[in-house]
This record gives sequence, structure tokens and C-alpha cells, in this order.
Amino acid sequence: MSRLEKKQPARCTDLPLKNADICSKLKILKQLLKSCYGPTGRLKQIHNNIGGQVVTTSTSVVLLPTLSSTEPFINLIRTSIINHISRFSDCGLFAGILCLSLIEEAQLSSLRKDVCQKVNKYLLGLCTSYLQQEDCACKVKVDFNSSHCLIRLAHGVISSKPACVLRESEILHITRLIVQGFLLTVPCDKPGAVKLGRIVTLAVEGLPVMDSTIFPGLLLETPDLSLHLTGLLNCGQLRTIIFTASLAGDLSELGEGTIVVHKGMDVEVQILDQLLKIGEKVVKDEVKLFMCQKVIHPVLQQYLRYHGIVVIERLGINLLEPVIQLTGAQPVATLHSIPPRAYGKVKEITIRQFGSKIMLHLVPTEETAICTLILCHRNETMLNELKVACEKAQHVLRLTLRDQFAVYGAGCSETHLAAYIRYKVNFKASKTIDLDTATMFGCMQTEYVLAAEGFCRSLESVTAALDHNGGSSLIDLTHAHHWTLPTDMTTDEMDRTLGLCRCGVVQYCKDYKWSFLNTKYTEFSPAAVSGEADVLDSFTAKVNGLQVAVETANLALDVQYIIQDTN
Ligand SMILES: [Zn+2]
Repeated sequence: MSRLEKKQPARCTDLPLKNADICSKLKILKQLLKSCYGPTGRLKQIHNNIGGQVVTTSTSVVLLPTLSSTEPFINLIRTSIINHISRFSDCGLFAGILCLSLIEEAQLSSLRKDVCQKVNKYLLGLCTSYLQQEDCACKVKVDFNSSHCLIRLAHGVISSKPACVLRESEILHITRLIVQGFLLTVPCDKPGAVKLGRIVTLAVEGLPVMDSTIFPGLLLETPDLSLHLTGLLNCGQLRTIIFTASLAGDLSELGEGTIVVHKGMDVEVQILDQLLKIGEKVVKDEVKLFMCQKVIHPVLQQYLRYHGIVVIERLGINLLEPVIQLTGAQPVATLHSIPPRAYGKVKEITIRQFGSKIMLHLVPTEETAICTLILCHRNETMLNELKVACEKAQHVLRLTLRDQFAVYGAGCSETHLAAYIRYKVNFKASKTIDLDTATMFGCMQTEYVLAAEGFCRSLESVTAALDHNGGSSLIDLTHAHHWTLPTDMTTDEMDRTLGLCRCGVVQYCKDYKWSFLNTKYTEFSPAAVSGEADVLDSFTAKVNGLQVAVETANLALDVQYIIQDTN
């Protein structure tokens, strides 16, 4: 008889934000995220307690999934940020730090939680409508006639990942490849519905970063080089076929349709006969490239190679779509018949070698939106981080097709937004009209101003998190951009040390007035500035990150009880 254990009662925590243990965990999470933020962020090593691979990172995409906690309240926040990253790739740390700062500000203030929530929501609306405005002074339109904006956007993503360990020249090289790849994936002058292509990334360990390169078409790793390629190079058009059904001859994986088995005969032999009939058919139809998503029976492989056909098996589900797009072939899911329209074509097949890896390069017959990025780095850890960073950068560039804007990076947008909100709140508060706003939140006007100040401080605390080397963060009281004064410099030496703001768009002017970050300044309407910025962030990712941060903080402030099943 099995042992019966008494069911444990569920654990109930009331008012989690008044629980010291939860509060200290929130604080640690905030410190952890802040310490990773930006180009000089500190690296984290992740390993489990049974050994295995050690990961070095500062990227939220890698870090957050590993930070699972036994505390549901922490997981609530973590999951929300992970969800944002899975949709937008970028601004995960921004959203996490802002969310935790907003929670902390609400805890520190003596205001009622519902007042903080209502004010946060209202100010989020103010921020997003300002960001959507045509004349918003912290965004720029992405100009697709020049590569400047695209390069700055990709550069921003790659340079903020210190675990990639890249020199400036290497960052520039990778950035250019990503922009080139992005441009290759946007089809031009194609009739009908526009379908974006794909960049397939292949990582090669042990080669210098500068050996990284990009090719139009598809490169496939191939373990087998007993290829009869001599006659295939530059052959014009090579007929191609792709099977999604397994050609291994296993009974369990015969694909669609039925196979008639004759009584008394060996089933395996009969299936192999069927496979060889496919072989005969493709040889007759002059196929030169034979690919299968799954495994191909060795006898069939040998037969095909004997007839000079290049055979690629185990393509996998991820490569299937790009291969179909590149060749124009219709994948075959059965062993019975091959319809004429199933055939696609490639222009040529060449062999390329990177370090110890030998690859087949499938060159498309016409311009195609598929390309392959060969990513090289000195060791596996750096290479893994670089791969994640490149995927992020590619996603950020794609987002510009949706919203053709970028926001000023390096903390300048956050300080600018904080100044804008302060101005709006205090300007309105000075008019009797805005008593209505305070009434709307069910609080006094002073409480409204206090809650708004918490919101602005939270925005600025994200900017402050960029500095890990002890410098002082300043803002100019004209454009409200972010500046850094190095540790050993005083404010008297500002004209010598401050050349440009951190995003690079505002030039130092001795007439500017200054304020240290998170100290009080007289409200002003931040002025627009024209010029090209060096650091740009994704507009779409930032707007969504802002939304996610505020909504998650408000949700966390709302939690009254946590009920946890302990069985
Ligand atoms: Zn700036």
C-alpha cells in the first residue's frame, strides 16, 4: 500500500509589498538588472548546481529565464518582462528596472496605492501620446534612403552587450553585416503580397570576428563531403526537390497515403523498393539537388549520389521554410508520387569552408530574400552572446518597418520624457483647471504632484543605471538630454569635458544650465534639437517596454494576497 501523506494547507501571504522577505528579493532583482544595464554593464555567470555549461551574459533574453524564483510575486514581474522580450527582443532591462523603480517609489511614498496606480496610468498615457506626436522631440524618423539610422540602431544593440567582448572595429563590422542582411531580406519590386525573407545564422567558433560575413542564399552545414560536385558548379539551373516525409524506411514514419504490402514478402524490402522508385523518378526527371527534412535511407542516398545528385538530409524544421523560399520547390510529404510542380531550382552549388566547417552554398536563381550570416568569434561563450545580440539587432531593424522611428538612446529619451512630464504636471497644476485632474485621481493636488514626481524619478533611475564607473549623470535644462561628468572632473571643467550629450545629438554650450540627475530643477519645456544622433534605440520596443513596465508595476501594487499550493 502506498504511503499516504497528509495534504499540506496552502501558504497565504497577505499584502506582499509589506512582506520584508519579498521586498528584499525585489531590491536584489532591481540591483541585478541595473548592474547589467548598458555598454559598461557588469557580466553575470550562470551555472546550475549539478555542473554543466557556464553562461556569461548581461542580456535580459538570457538572464531573465534563468532567474526563476520560488516567490510567485517575483515571477509575476519576471514573466511579464520575458513576454515583452519575446515579442520585441529589446528594452527588457529598461522595462524591468523601470517597473521595479515604480514599485519602490510607490512603497516609499506615503500615498495610497490606488492614487499611485491612477497617476502612473495617466502619465503613461501622457508619455505614449507625446511619443506618438509628430513633433515629439525625442524621436527621429528612420530614413531608408541612408543607412545611418539603421547602422546606429544595430550598433546600439551590439555595443550594449559587453559579454560579446568586441573591439569598436569589430562592432562596426558586425553592425554593417546585420544592416546588409536586413536589406537583403526586404524583397524589392516583387508583385503580389510582400513576404519578408530571413537571415539564417551559422556560428563558427575559433575564427576572428572580422572573418564573419554574409552571403545571399543559403549555406548548409554538411558532414558528408563525398559529393560529386565537380560537374555541378556553375551548371545554370539545378533542379531541386525537398521531402518533408521521412525517407528512412521506418514503418512509423511513412508520411501521407497508404502503402500496399504484399503477403509473404519482407515489409522492409517492399518499402525500400518504394524509396528506390522515388530515386529512379528523380534521376529520370534530372534532379540535381535532393533534400529531406528528416533522415534518408543509406541505400537511397547511395543510389542518388551514384547518379551525381547532391543529397542533404536532416534539414530540420527551422531550415525548411528558408529552403522552400529560396528554391521555390513545393515540399513532398508522401512516398507515392511527385507532382511536376514539386520541383524547384537553384543556380549553383559551391563549397565554402570556415575553420573546420565545410558548407554547401545554395545560390538562388534570382534575387532572393534569404541570406546566411556566418558569425565567427574566438570562443563559445562570446559567440553565444554575439548570436543573441545579432538576433536582437535584426529584430530591432525589422520593427522599423512597422514604426519608422527611433528614439534617442543612452538615457537621453528617459531624461527628456521625465522633464516633459514634470513640465506638463506642474504647468497644469499651477492652473486651477487641473484641480479636476487631482479630483479624477481621488486625491489632493499635492498628492498628485508627489506621485508624478515618483514616476519621473523612476524614469531617471533607468538613465542613472547606465553609469557603472562612478561618474555623475547630468541633464541640461534646455533639451533635457543625458550627460556624464567623469569621476575626476568638477563642474568647473565642464566646458573641457562635455562635448556631446550621451546620445550624441546635443552639443555642449556654455550658456546651458545644468542639474544633477535626480535633484530638483525648475520645470521647463524641453526644446527639440536637430542633428544626427550616435546612439538610437528601437521606438517600438521602448514604447512597449514603457507600457509593460507601468502596467506590471500597477498590477503588482494591486496584489493583496498570494495563495501558494505547497503540496
Ligand atoms: Zn542626447
